Amino acid sequence: MARTPQSPFALLDLDALLSEEERAIRDVVRDYVEASIKPQVGDWFEEGTIPARELARELGSLGVLGMHLEGYGCAGTSAVAYGLACLELEAGDSGIRSLVSVQGSLAMYAIHAFGSEEHKQEWLPRMAAGEAIGCFGLTEPDFGSNPSGMRTQAKRDGDDWVLDGTKMWITNGTVADVAVVWARTDDGVRGFVVPTDTPGFTAREIHKKLSLRASVTAELILEGVRLPADAVLPGVTGLRGPLSCLNEARFGIVFGTLGAARDCLETAISYSIDREQFDKPIAAYQLTQKKLADMTLELDKGFLLALHLGRLKDAHTIRPEQISIGKLNNARESLAIARECRSILGANGITLEYPVIRHMNNLESVFTYEGTNEMHTLVVGEALTGIAAYR
Ligand SMILES: Cc1cc2nc3c(=O)[nH]c(=O)nc-3n(C[C@H](O)[C@H](O)[C@H](O)COP(=O)(O)OP(=O)(O)OC[C@H]3O[C@@H](n4cnc5c(N)ncnc54)[C@H](O)[C@@H]3O)c2cc1C
Repeated sequence: MARTPQSPFALLDLDALLSEEERAIRDVVRDYVEASIKPQVGDWFEEGTIPARELARELGSLGVLGMHLEGYGCAGTSAVAYGLACLELEAGDSGIRSLVSVQGSLAMYAIHAFGSEEHKQEWLPRMAAGEAIGCFGLTEPDFGSNPSGMRTQAKRDGDDWVLDGTKMWITNGTVADVAVVWARTDDGVRGFVVPTDTPGFTAREIHKKLSLRASVTAELILEGVRLPADAVLPGVTGLRGPLSCLNEARFGIVFGTLGAARDCLETAISYSIDREQFDKPIAAYQLTQKKLADMTLELDKGFLLALHLGRLKDAHTIRPEQISIGKLNNARESLAIARECRSILGANGITLEYPVIRHMNNLESVFTYEGTNEMHTLVVGEALTGIAAYR
């Protein structure tokens, strides 16, 4: 006799591990995604555009921009609540979660952690409200996994700084009001708060992407960008600055990827129950059930890992290699889940009528950005052996 199907997370009663407040925040974001993202995001993906300003304001009203930061209009939630919000946003689309991650965990976090009081007062309240958009420029055309080779330079001219260089693959680049740009100086790498209307700053959108199409990705060109002395982030010198921001964003990805995977898996389960071949639902075949069961195991294990890391982060004991374990595992397994779900949908799996191939293509970017699969593997390898194999 057929029983009522259960959702992958319900199978393990994973909600029981969350506080009432965490569930409430999760539900608010889930409702927003269901009502405002899912009905439109397939079209945005197909067209390769998003209404970024409008979305930023909506996400600001929802309270998710910089939600884990304290003060300056930010909600000051727990890391777990932030992770759950990322999961729900990415169940809509990795591009929407990317907008939120770059705004909150990269641009806002950099200003919050390392900026002057003036930087914080000027930018954070507007960014939390979604009235100003931020981007984060670290990667360059010739320096991705190895940002220490960056060529972008900031030179002193009197009291001013003058920036020259190119940044590549910058999320939110053409829609940003402020860019946090990392540049080489005589004292080491420093971060600069660059209003994007400063003369000499240009952003060009990168087209022809087949992944994260519902997200703005850009090249930033800095040609003699003259900034006042106080444009530098005073709180940090060296790569520790950008790398600590990346750790914040990677933490969101540990949860976020699971949202895309969950959406794929739920779609595949319901599709397999409805779709009949050889006079039976394809869900009735053992091969399909094995796929669904194996994917559920990986999804639920990924959630337990994410939650464990979230509790460590809330206890302020989390270490970068632990975040690498989460990013490595959950990006890899979520991508594998998306690909397997695509197979269950057969030919329908290749269209934007279903979310699966969109998530699958998006997860290819997530697999690469914020530290590639290989780099996180080598971070874990280094933690285990004491030997850095990436140099
Ligand atoms: C859609 C999108 C949005 C992005 N948004 C941003 C952003 O907002 N801000 C920003 O600064 N950057 C952003 N990035 C850039 C992203 O962080 C880089 O793409 C990433 O760090 C990898 O760099 P790369 O693409 O230059 O690849 P490379 O570093 O050239 O790597 C290519 C391949 O070589 C492997 N490899 C490299 N070094 C080693 C090694 N030592 N050992 C073994 N294998 C190695 C890599 O793992 C990878 O498989 C974004 C990228 C994408 C795709």
